[in-house]
Formats: sequence, C-alpha cells, structure tokens
Amino acid sequence: MKYLSTRGDRTPRGFADILLEGLAPDGGLYLPAHYPHVDVATMARWRTLPYAELAFEILSLYIDDIPAADLKRLTHAAYRESVFGTPQITPLKPLPALGEGLYLEALSNGPTLAFKDMAMQLLGHLFEYELGRRGEELNILGATSGDTGSAAEYAMRGKKGVRVFMLSPHGRMSPFQQAQMFSLQDPNIHNIAVEGVFDDCQDIVKAVSNDLAFKRRHRIGTVNSINWARLLAQVVYYFAGYFRATRANDEPASFAVPSGNFGNICAGHVARMMGLPIKRLVLATNENDVLDEFFRTGTYRVRGTAETWETSSPSMDISKASNFERFVFDLLGRDAARTAELFGTDLARDGGFTLGEAEFAPAAGYGFVSGRSTHADRLATIRTAHERCGVLIDTHTADGLKVALEHRDAGVPMIVLETALPAKFAATIREAIGRDPEVPAALAGLESLPRRFTVMPPDAACVQHYIAEHTGA
Ligand SMILES: *Cc1c(COP(=O)(O)O)cnc(C)c1O
Repeated sequence: MKYLSTRGDRTPRGFADILLEGLAPDGGLYLPAHYPHVDVATMARWRTLPYAELAFEILSLYIDDIPAADLKRLTHAAYRESVFGTPQITPLKPLPALGEGLYLEALSNGPTLAFKDMAMQLLGHLFEYELGRRGEELNILGATSGDTGSAAEYAMRGKKGVRVFMLSPHGRMSPFQQAQMFSLQDPNIHNIAVEGVFDDCQDIVKAVSNDLAFKRRHRIGTVNSINWARLLAQVVYYFAGYFRATRANDEPASFAVPSGNFGNICAGHVARMMGLPIKRLVLATNENDVLDEFFRTGTYRVRGTAETWETSSPSMDISKASNFERFVFDLLGRDAARTAELFGTDLARDGGFTLGEAEFAPAAGYGFVSGRSTHADRLATIRTAHERCGVLIDTHTADGLKVALEHRDAGVPMIVLETALPAKFAATIREAIGRDPEVPAALAGLESLPRRFTVMPPDAACVQHYIAEHTGA
C-alpha cells in the first residue's frame, strides 16, 4: 500500500515511511491510495478471530513493508489481556433498559483509562520496532492537558530508542492525571511542568519544532492525533464491535462517537469505506460544536480561544478538528487541489469555509449524522444510565449516548463507543449521582506514589536546554 497527501503530494511512500512522521511536506494529511475492500468470505473468517488476530489481518491490508511474522508479534504484544483487562479487549455491554440493541463498546480498559490507549499501545511497539530496524532514535515532544500525554507515556515507557518529553501546565491537570503521569519512573519518560497554561505548552512545542536545526540534531518527533498509524489501529474496534453486535455480515449496525479532533470517528469512516455495513456514524460533540455545525450546515468554522469552552467533557474541547481534512478529501472525490484550497488557503484567511451545495450533498451518503450536548445533558444521561442500567459512564461517553438515543433506527444495533472511564472525572460523577466513581484496583494508591517531574518557566530555550542535556547529543 502506498500513501498520498490530501493536498496532492504523490511521492509514493510506504507505511514505515509515514509511521514516524506528522504532516505531509505539503501540509496535508496522509491517506492510503485506496481503501481495501473486505469481501464476504473475509468478513466470515474475521468474525470469530481474537482481537489481536483481527488487528493483524486489518493492519496487513495497509502495511506491506513490515514482514507478516513481525507484524503479528507486534499486534499480539499490544493487545494482551494483561494490558486491557479482558480477553475480548473491547467487550460490549448491552444497555437493554435504554433501548433494544443498544450497546457500549468498552475501549477504556487500558493503562490510562481512555480509548487513546487502544491506538497508542500499538504505536509504542511499532515505533520501537521501526527505530530498531533503522538504528535510529526518536525524542517525542508533546504538550498535553491530560489524556494524550499520559497515553503516550504509558505506551512509550521502557521502549528502546524512544524518549518522551511531555509538557503540561503546572498544577492544572486533575490530581488523578498528575498522579498518573508523574508517578512514572522510567528513565525514558520526562515530565515537564510548565508554569503557564496549556497554550503556553503548545507554543513551546511549536517554537522547538520550528527550530529546524535543533529538531534535526535532537531527532524531535511527535505522536499527535493526525498520525495515520493511530487512526488505522482504531479501525479494528469498529470491526470487533460490529461482529459482537450482529449475527450475520449483511446486518447493518450504527456507531455513536464522542468526538473532538475527528480521529476516532474518522476510523469509523475508513471501516465503512472498507465495506463494513455501518448504517450511521453518529458524531457527538459537547458545547464545542464545530463538527456538529458542519454536519448540519456544510459550514466549517474554526473557533477562537474566547469561543472555546471548558466543559465537563474536556477531551472534546476543541476549536478545530485536526483529522477532519481526511474526510473532506474523500467527500470531495479526493480532489486534492480543492482540499488544499479549503484547508490551506480559506481556513487561514477566513477561519473557515462553506461547501457548495453539490459538494456537501453527498455527505449524507457517508452515513454521518450529528448532535451536541450540554453539561446538564451529561449529568442527566449519566444518572439515567446508572439508575436504569446500573452502568456508570464518564462524561464523554455520556455525550455519545445522549446523541445516540436521538438517532436510533428500528432493528439496527447502536454501538456507543466508551472513550474513558468515570474514575477520571470524579467531580462530575459526584455531581450526577452523589458519590465518587470506583477507581480500578490496578490504580488504587496511585496518588500516594513518589513523583518525578521538572518544573520550568514557559520558555522554549529552557526546554531545549533540558532536552539537549537528556538526549546525550
Ligand atoms: C481524545 C478523546 C475524545 C475525542 O476523540 P477524537 O479522536 O479527538 O475525536 C473523546 N473522549 C475522550 C475521553 C478522549 O480522550
């Protein structure tokens, strides 16, 4: 499989070439040259496979530059019961009291209790493998307000050839998130607490990445949500969830996805393009409704900081959706020149764009519908799921469930993706049901472990100095 850029660069690249990269050189995102079609015989064979085998089969369709035996070993190393807590890896929980054929797909039983582990755990193994094969090292620099940073650290801890330098706003993450990240003692993990806000952290990452000489000398890379390998890993649980919720491979099923950067639901789009019979892809946002607005109107309008709300589903508090360009490229019949105009020119100049009627009309044919929720909706949904089904869900999953219930089709299973566990968002859970969520046994006592982090002023030069000291270059 070769990969191309959504903005037209057609230099042929294999999977291993784009694995360690972010944006394509022309500023676009990488996509496979085509989506492999999965036929009925293959679907029948896949239906009963264990998760790691299914992952191997799906990845094999997109990766031809890693030997099969190696890829199999990597998927089995990533998707183990000891990492995800259950042999099914992503079990379904039925919610019959809220609707027939309504399910939660558990994606949050990994080490950081959020679905980002699903892709990041595999990425850790792929990075270690590819760097080892090339005899190279990579220093991952990132900024986090919580979920992504911890998922990256837990995936990369102890991996050979990789170091992580993760910036976070000092004292501003939740106590649980701080404990999760700062208790890691692995020498290749570096937590840098910046005396500032999340935007200061992001500005530093940008400044360091723009210093091309420094970037090259210290082999600086990222693991952000536009990485194709992350998206590909997420395709697997759409197949796995579908097989568990249906009996035959021609039955339709729908998915509801709590969305921010459009990474998770874009994987659903890819699964659907491969032939998985997905009826609807229900996109759920919170008050930050950039994407809901697009799917209702055809207008994509990036929000400014003053218009980006801090909500009780914080991992969905986005002002723009960094993976969205991938879907628009497909929607426009893979017209790279038009995609470059919209995302390269219009977005920079006008802060958004509106698709023409003929461009937007086909969107419905891709199965997308959308909705949004408020803090009050989340509280009500958490309470209802708890009272009627005895299931405690987190705030992001509540956004998904609320919008899912607005888009049911009779007789079609609806699978709501559970993107985090309630233990991560105790304050809102307390507000909803009057008591604290349980903390999984493996994480009990986390907050009393010794911590390892370095406090620094919001200054790119200080961060560069620290990196230089710790990379031995
Ligand atoms: C990252 C995240 C999301 C949003 O996922 P996208 O891929 O950015 O759309 C939703 N819920 C939780 C808990 C997350 O961590």
